[in-house]
Parts: sequence; structure tokens; C-alpha cells
Amino acid sequence: MNALLIYPKSPETFWSLTHALRLINRKAASPPLGLLTVAAMLPSDWDLRLVDLNVRDMTDEDLAWADYALLSGMIVQRDSALDVAARCKSAGLTVVAGGPLFASEDERARFGDVDHFVLNEAELTLPPFLEDLERGVSHRTYRTDQFADLTTSPAPRWDLVDPHEYASRGVQFSRGCPNNCEFCEVTQLLGHRWRRKAVSQVIAELDTLYDLGWRGVVPFVDDNFNARGEYLRRELLPALIEWREGKRGMGFSAQVTMELADDTELIELMVRAGFGTVFIGIETMDEVNLAECHKRQNRHRDLLSDIKRIQRAGLQVQAGFIVGFDNDTPSVFQRMTEFIQKSGIATAMVGLLQAPVGTALYKRLNREGRIRVDLSGDNSDGSTNIVPRMGLESLQAGYGNLLRDLYAPKNYYRRVRTFLREYRPRRANTRITPSQILAVIRSFYHLSVVGRERWEYPGLLFWTLFRRPRALPVAVVLAIYGYHYRMCFEPLFSARVSGPGRA
Ligand code: SF4
Repeated sequence: MNALLIYPKSPETFWSLTHALRLINRKAASPPLGLLTVAAMLPSDWDLRLVDLNVRDMTDEDLAWADYALLSGMIVQRDSALDVAARCKSAGLTVVAGGPLFASEDERARFGDVDHFVLNEAELTLPPFLEDLERGVSHRTYRTDQFADLTTSPAPRWDLVDPHEYASRGVQFSRGCPNNCEFCEVTQLLGHRWRRKAVSQVIAELDTLYDLGWRGVVPFVDDNFNARGEYLRRELLPALIEWREGKRGMGFSAQVTMELADDTELIELMVRAGFGTVFIGIETMDEVNLAECHKRQNRHRDLLSDIKRIQRAGLQVQAGFIVGFDNDTPSVFQRMTEFIQKSGIATAMVGLLQAPVGTALYKRLNREGRIRVDLSGDNSDGSTNIVPRMGLESLQAGYGNLLRDLYAPKNYYRRVRTFLREYRPRRANTRITPSQILAVIRSFYHLSVVGRERWEYPGLLFWTLFRRPRALPVAVVLAIYGYHYRMCFEPLFSARVSGPGRA
């Protein structure tokens, strides 16, 4: 049996890093980890090809070769997934779909070209589908309300990935989150019970990546990496520290909650293990909003001090913010700009409040008659599927101004320096590679010769060289990221946004 594992095209988003990837000569940020894990669960006598439309086209030869098309995706990939399903179906392939895009009935109804939906966690729903397929009695939909034991989850099939196309490789250690943020779909998809792989599984996955020649950042894609700090301190981080010894060029990043700021021992261990960046859902600085969205872990805190503490310990903080809560008034935009500038958070992903189907927020706003349209799936494209209390027009106008202020070169570079003043990086265990030197030359040309950061970028490089030489690689990366963020947000700077899910 021949099967295509197809990952649909993603539009340009904050996280696609499209503009930054061009400067480092890569086509996509990271390979589709879910599909690679599914690949490891398929019968060993199946021949597989990965077709990630973000790095290559699907050819007629692919379609002629294959019997099955296994399609995964997120909501933001909906349009491309519809095209893929139609093309595979008309080529005579059996189309099988799974992943977050297909989680809701409304979405499934759009996909008439899909023969089988294999939903929820594939460790539980793929085996019965394959058994039924073997017996010739397969159903249209396979789903479960149970959650998988990750100690039985196989390692992703990294051998299917073209090693030159991606900027990073991901690892998943745990799934599930005990928290209850009202807008979050993670708990709806993966549950509240925190489940994890064995440390030996994670180390084996890292060994595979290292043996395949990967050198660079490995993001832990877990939605709440520090949900069980005790386990990290006792088991995972000591193992990572030991594994990384003598392995130059390897580092990690993770998504954590603000509770990390309370645990200096955990931060210290993460830094020793090679973590350089953490992403935190800050969402809002307003206590009433935090109560409204049940973000209990961020309440009654001095958020700025917490961020600085983490930065000083040697971790760069990236963060997500939301505007459009019921309590927000037009003053929120200025207050949020000031907060982010003071925080030194260069990578600040600000989006409008959105309500993914199935979340507690969706249910509440649906009861109130405040769900307007479909979700675009891009949480920072200026769209929302809800009726905001502030009024959509005011919200979008204020949002555009906020983005313009945050990502104007002058403010962005000022923020990077604010961060670098706090940041105390450990000595890097990396060596400079020819491709990194090339990236610096390319970025210098694009940002300082033809771009708008003519003075800011060289100024940052000189300032960092003399004041924070150890942070120079981070300064270069942040300048390149800043270029992408500005290019990505520029269409939203001044106009009301139009299109699906938009005003
Ligand atoms: S902490 Fe993060 S993953 Fe957990 S419920 Fe809140 S937003 Fe979702």
C-alpha cells in the first residue's frame, strides 16, 4: 500500500516566520510532528511519502503512485486542505483526515471528499480504523473521548523529512493541561489530565535527531511544559542536562505558564539543560479580564517583575496577548503597548479575542448570541468570530494602531535592548556555522541596505557587541524575527480588516 502524508499549505502568519525563513534559506519553521507520529503507527509494509505543501508541491506523479491520502491540518489550513482533499479524491485515492481542523462537525460537513475521519488522539483511533480497513468494513468516522497513554506513543518518523527545508525540529513530552482558560481549545482536544512520555522516549527521539545531523533548537511542543514542575526537576531536566553534554549546537524552547517565575530552581535547571526561550500566555494585564477568562495562574501577580526575573535567569520570554475582552475599553491599546515595551518582550503575539468551537467561551457567547462567523484559525490576523463589547470597528482600529506602535522599527529595537539589558545568557554550547554567517550577511542586506531598519539594526549589533557580546546571536535572531513580524502585520497597521471572519 502506498500512502501520501499530506500537510496543507499554511498562509503567512505570525508563527509561519515566512519572511525570516527566506533570510536563513529555509522553507518552513518546523515539520508536521503529528503526521510523522501517525506515520510511525501505520503498517510496516506501507510505503510512505511526506508531502508538506509548505515546502514542496504535490505532483501528479505523487497522486499516481499513491493509494491513500492521509491528511492532517489546523483550522488556518482549511482552504488548502479543501483543495488537497478534492484533488486526491478526483485522482481516485482514499482520503483519510485527522487533526484539529476536523474536530468539529461543522468543519467535517465541508469535507465531502474525505472518506474517513480518524479523530482525536491517533494512538487510540488509528488502530481500529486500520483493523477495519484490513477486514474491508471501515466506517466514516472514528473518534474517542479517551486520552492516550503517551508511554505507548511511537517516535516520529524523522527519516521521512527533507533535512534541509526546516528551521527547527520539535519533540512532544506531554499532553493535557490542568488549567481552564475559557478561550483555550487545548483542554477540549487533549483534556485536563497531564500525561507524559517516559524520559527514555524523549532521549531516544533526541538521539535520532542528533544522529540524523540536526543541530539547533528543538522546541518542546507541549502546551503546558511546566504543568508538573516536580517531575521536570526530578526526571526530565537532569536527563536532558546529561544528554546534552558534549553535544554542541543543541538547545530547547518550551511553552510554560507564568508559574515558572515562582520556581527559581526549575528555571535554573531549564537553563542548564539548554532552554533558551519560553513562550508564556500572558493574555492581559487586567485583573477583571483575567478573572473573566479564568486565567487563574496569572492573577494577583506583578507580571512585569515575573518576566524580568525569568529574563535575568537566562531565558528569553515570548508571550501571547489578547485584546477584546468584555471589560476592555479603548484605553487597553495604549496600556498594552506600554506594558509590552517595558517588559522587553520582543516576540509579542497580540491577537483579538476569538472563540474556537467547543470552548467554554464559544458556549457562553453562543448563548448570548455573540458568535458571528467562522473562525479564520489565525489568532493574529485582525479577525474574530465574536461580537466584541467594544464594537468591532473600534477594536480593529485600536488593534491596528497597537501593532503599528509595537512593530515600528524604533520601538521594536528599543524593546530588544530593554530585554538584552536584563538578559544574562549562559555561555553558548554552539559553534558558528557557515550558514549562520550567510544569514547575518543576508539579514544585514535586507534590513539595513534595502529595508527600513537602516540605522536600528547596525546600531543594535554594535551596542550588543560592546555591551552584551554573549547575546549577539540572540540580537541577530530577534532582528530577523522583527522584520518578519513587521512584514506580517503591516497590512493591519491602519485599515479595518476584511475577508472571512473579519468585519
Ligand atoms: S494554561 Fe495554556 S494550555 Fe492550559 S488551559 Fe490555559 S491557555 Fe490552555
